[in-house]
Amino acid sequence: MNRGLAFTGNRKRQVLVVDDEHINREMLGHIIRQKYEVIFAGNGEEAMEIIRENRKKLSLVMLDLLMPVMDGFQVLKEMQEDPELKAIPVIVLTSEKEAEVDSLKLGAADFITKPYDMPEVILARVRRIIELSEDRLIIEATERDHLTGLYTKEFFYQYAGQLERYYPDWEMDAVAIDVEHFHLLNELQGREFGDRVLKEIARTVNHLISTEADGYACRYEADMYYVYCTHMDEDGYERMHAELIEALVKITKNNRIRVRFGIYPKADRNIEMERRFDRAKQACDSIRNNYAISMAYYDTETYEKELFAERLIGDFEEAMQQGHLVVYYQPKYEISGDEPKLASAEALIRWIHPEFGMVSPEAFIPLFETNGLIQQLDLYVWKQAAAQIAKWKKEYGVTVPVSVNVSRMDMYDPNLQTNLLQILRENGLSSEEYLLEVTESAYAEDSRQLIEVVDKLRSKGFRVEMDDFGSGYSSLNMLTTLPIDVLKLDMVFVKNVHTDEKALRLVELIMEIARYLGVTVVAEGVEYVEQYELLKKCGCDVIQGYYFSKPLPPEEWASILIKEKAR
Ligand code: C2E
Ligand code: MG
Ligand code: MG
Repeated sequence: MNRGLAFTGNRKRQVLVVDDEHINREMLGHIIRQKYEVIFAGNGEEAMEIIRENRKKLSLVMLDLLMPVMDGFQVLKEMQEDPELKAIPVIVLTSEKEAEVDSLKLGAADFITKPYDMPEVILARVRRIIELSEDRLIIEATERDHLTGLYTKEFFYQYAGQLERYYPDWEMDAVAIDVEHFHLLNELQGREFGDRVLKEIARTVNHLISTEADGYACRYEADMYYVYCTHMDEDGYERMHAELIEALVKITKNNRIRVRFGIYPKADRNIEMERRFDRAKQACDSIRNNYAISMAYYDTETYEKELFAERLIGDFEEAMQQGHLVVYYQPKYEISGDEPKLASAEALIRWIHPEFGMVSPEAFIPLFETNGLIQQLDLYVWKQAAAQIAKWKKEYGVTVPVSVNVSRMDMYDPNLQTNLLQILRENGLSSEEYLLEVTESAYAEDSRQLIEVVDKLRSKGFRVEMDDFGSGYSSLNMLTTLPIDVLKLDMVFVKNVHTDEKALRLVELIMEIARYLGVTVVAEGVEYVEQYELLKKCGCDVIQGYYFSKPLPPEEWASILIKEKAR
């Protein structure tokens, strides 16, 4: 059969010789060593161990039948029971004619009789059996796509797996190639023409991968091709892309035809072949309709982020139990008087991960909002915060109202209000001491439902702050209809107030509206004295930011509280 390509790698196939007699092993080893990598076992038990361990690499087992500990029949039996081991061919080594039939029945591929007097015959048999077994694997799949003559995807994956067995050190790229809007070509120019284009792509791709690299291709689906080839750099793919386009323009007479490449370079061997091509395809899909780019690489950064996210989700339970999730508190200062005065604090979660160190909430809050863990986490933070207020009260005689973040997911929880009230009760707190921060985007998402929930909470005495105001969705108009007590100006406004006249004007405008509506304004992310002074001048009521303090663990609050008490 046509192997498609001659692979240049010259790694020897591995053969296991199993015989209890040293001299027999040596003789056979001597004969086949010129062509194969030979390993040995002295009995069936040893052999099974090696076979199981090397199942991916072994090309052939040459097996003596009569051995102590475990004989060859038993080895054959055990190999038959495991589909993967069953695929490794066995040649039985024997001196008795009767045993041959039995061993063939047990699945042996061939036999060689002792003593070994014709080395050429032995080598020829070994080669033939290995070839047969490799071809069998391949022939089992329906081999070729009728239209293009390329391999079918089933065959392609099998072949790829086999290639890997023999060339474990090669760095391979998984590539997906797609023709943009192929269906249009089909519709406008007819199916026959479409077929011609598909064939031309197949021909060119096949030609290019065998000249530029070592590899092979398949037609994955209608107008999507997969290529598995030795690693090429960007220039290589650029050339390939250019030549492919050139070939297509020749037959289509249309220079707007667009072909996309999605490349997953040096594909990770530890993941399944199909998944490697999923990644190539993902890269390819990422530039769909993006006419400026025709080639995209699978982004390991994205992949690593995914992995990291999976880790965090997996570690969450343990982190809760082991106390790796710690609540920090950042003070907010009332600045309308002559001297800034502690107004409240915001509870902010920190994950002190044993392996990654301090993990920012930005890394896991949005993630946990997609899978429901956020509710568990928030409940934990709310309880911690309430207990902290009570503790400070008791230890310092100072009441520090604390605001907690309420995720938009929490707003859909029918138990929200009951939970919060219970937390207050358990810690002997009133609802004025406890503030709720609801992010602006939650309001924009489903205002009606949210307004209802917020109204209820406010009727129970909770004060509600709109967090991150101005970060995206809301309009100033929204402010007039929403039930809120405090508006937290998003950091983006604060960031530029001292450098950008327009930003300052905007802040002034928001301040004016807030005054008109009778809501308090908190500016967050205030880092510099210039920002502080401008905000004060605009009439901002409360400031939160590094200018005063970073979020701190509760034990570092002592000095703030002592100062507050002395007032
Ligand atoms: P947020 O509620 O808007 O919190 C303010 C963020 O600004 C905090 O980031 C805080 O550390 C940071 N920050 C404060 N002052 C400054 C400053 O002067 N400069 C700069 N550059 N940053 C400042 P953090 O703690 O990383 O939290 C990020 C976001 O994660 C929070 O934004 C909040 O939306 C969310 N989050 C934090 N803890 C929780 C929680 O327990 N539950 C929920 N649902 N969300 C939380
Ligand atoms: Mg907040
Ligand atoms: Mg905020």
